[in-house]
Amino acid sequence: MRSKDNLAQHFRLKPAQIKALAKLGLHNIISLLYHFPSRYVGEKDVLLAKITSQGIRKSWRKRVPIAEMTLQDIAGKKIKAIWFSQAYMAKKFTEGSLVRLSGKSKEYRGTLSFTNPIIELASELEANGPLFQLPVNRRLLGNLVPVYPESHGVSSLWLTHAIQKILKSGILKQLEDPIPKEILQKYKLPSLAHSLIYIHTPKRESDARVARKRFSFQEIFFIQLERQRQKREYGQKSAYNINGKISAKEFTKRMKFTPTKAQTQALDSIIRDMNRAQPMMRLLEGDVGSGKTFVAAAAAYAVIENGFHVAYMAPTEILAKQHFESFIEFYKHLPNIKIGLLTGSECRKFPSKISHPSTSLKAGTHISRALMLKRIATGQMNIVIGTHAHIAESVKWAKLALVIIDEQHRFGTKQRAALVNKPHPASYAPHLLSMTATPIPRTLALTIYGDLDLTLLDESPPGRKPIITKVVKMRERRVVYEHIREEIKSGQQAYVICPRIDEPDPEKELVIETKDVKSETEKLGNEIFPEFVVGMIHGKMSGNEKNEIMHEFANGEIHILVATSVVEVGVNIPNATIIIIEGAERFGLAQLHQLRGRVLRSSHQAHCYLFTSREDTSVPKRLRVIEKAKNGFELAEYDLKLRGPGALGGGRQWGVSDVGMEALQNLKMVEAARTEAKLLLDSNPTLKNYPFLSAQLESNANLPHFE
Ligand code: ADP
Ligand code: MG
Repeated sequence: MRSKDNLAQHFRLKPAQIKALAKLGLHNIISLLYHFPSRYVGEKDVLLAKITSQGIRKSWRKRVPIAEMTLQDIAGKKIKAIWFSQAYMAKKFTEGSLVRLSGKSKEYRGTLSFTNPIIELASELEANGPLFQLPVNRRLLGNLVPVYPESHGVSSLWLTHAIQKILKSGILKQLEDPIPKEILQKYKLPSLAHSLIYIHTPKRESDARVARKRFSFQEIFFIQLERQRQKREYGQKSAYNINGKISAKEFTKRMKFTPTKAQTQALDSIIRDMNRAQPMMRLLEGDVGSGKTFVAAAAAYAVIENGFHVAYMAPTEILAKQHFESFIEFYKHLPNIKIGLLTGSECRKFPSKISHPSTSLKAGTHISRALMLKRIATGQMNIVIGTHAHIAESVKWAKLALVIIDEQHRFGTKQRAALVNKPHPASYAPHLLSMTATPIPRTLALTIYGDLDLTLLDESPPGRKPIITKVVKMRERRVVYEHIREEIKSGQQAYVICPRIDEPDPEKELVIETKDVKSETEKLGNEIFPEFVVGMIHGKMSGNEKNEIMHEFANGEIHILVATSVVEVGVNIPNATIIIIEGAERFGLAQLHQLRGRVLRSSHQAHCYLFTSREDTSVPKRLRVIEKAKNGFELAEYDLKLRGPGALGGGRQWGVSDVGMEALQNLKMVEAARTEAKLLLDSNPTLKNYPFLSAQLESNANLPHFE
């Protein structure tokens, strides 16, 4: 067996299993070794039994469906098993089948009972050969049994046996440890071989813990190495030296508002960064409404005044258009600045040669894509605001000195790289300003933005009334609805966020009493607010449908918009000043904070009402936190502490695996990984002395993909 061997070379795989393995990202032996248990169950009983009866009932208090089964083992002993909220269990198995139960059991008056055990058809197990021969009726006590992330067709049990087979094949001796020995010793981390054994077959919990620690470190260390290497590489390039101090001051002076201290400081560091022959790599992180666009516009102005060009990339067409209009407004006193809009569906420019009275000044004039590209290439556009359309090879800049990426977490590193690494004359690279409104904890920022210098905009513009956030009990619902009625009558609009799109299917999933967009839209429109127009928007609608709805909402034709949280309602609708969040306990703090940011767009007092779907009086502590906290960063830290790495909505979106996310609760570990990566690259910039480590980084074999 070799680490790169295909799984099909060593396991008899049915097509469904191959598909399931692929879904889990498992193709070869090494990837299976890196498929770690999500948890372990202890003191496990495993036994074989025949199903004698089964059914579903509802618990009378909580109305949760319970699947029940009675079974009999070969000796005739009676066994009971129940599953909460998994009614589908009863459908999966038929009376008379032989199954294997594993889980924790209790014995009472001769009956053995299991709660939420793992159940598998014995016939399926046997089909997998002698590996799966089971000890009949023997209770195996005291072992920690790994539970693996499964996929339909590949069970945790299958994975357990497959991984055991690999571990026993002697392959561990061939595996080289990618982490240098000195580093392992310094932090008392076990070797790769030991860690793999510990994580898959721990004797004690501490085995699993120390192994997970090693793999957490490894992942963060690898990400750091890769990001820092990118940073060094980028830093080697030359950049246009922008002397922008005076222009930035001039631009600022013309503003209708006085910039906040945070904005001034951010702008200062950007101007300083750009006043060098090496490219800037800076991330501007600021809550929604903290005024990032002003900072970007001032920096862009400084670059334009120096005779260079700026590319501004936004994640959606709606946002690009919005920014195009903002920049027209920002530069309206500067008729010589040529502003472009470049998206997949249209190109516009401003100012237009002939100012036709029928074209709205704000919208600019349409030009063909070919003409836009020509103007960019010949240096006739000073700044172009666009979407991913910027990345296309056909977009060639004359003197691109600054790239601004808005909502940068919405782009992959490859997309970012594609824009900054466009071929430039004489190995010049543009300065890079990334911006994000996603409040993330410091450890995560240090990890995934390891190549960027961080600036926080942690202050909101003066005069803005802080949003009033309130957790609302069921019985106060009517009062809130009355408030909404008043506000809408006086011209405001409201969002209602629901945790899901459709009603749940009780046969298939956990039934939690929670609102869904479709039923809520009907209820609000027909029963509660018959005098208003209630619209809905969700991720299953087509792009056109969504655009139309947003358009109607922006025009005030829809008074109340019911939406899921995933739908992008990020567009600027200053008139919407109320947001209701249904089932608020189901959202993370950072997410709630982002949602409420959507109504923070004017000087009108904004309100956020958090409804919980729980009848009981205990309001989750987290929701009390958001009532008080104003700052997204604090909230993100708090969320991480309170709910663990899961609070960050799964690491995949950040390119970090579950085990890597565990490190994020440990600032010391993240800093250690960062320091070691730096030291290693300082002494060995090309990692020449670490060929194996270098090869691993190159192939990204065990790293999650960043896209
Ligand atoms: P974001 O950081 O979410 O991108 P924007 O740049 O869109 O925020 O700014 C939000 C609003 O605040 C805009 O209307 C902008 O003109 C205004 N604004 C920005 N800075 C200030 C300031 N210092 N004083 C008053 N208003 C400001
Ligand atoms: Mg913005």
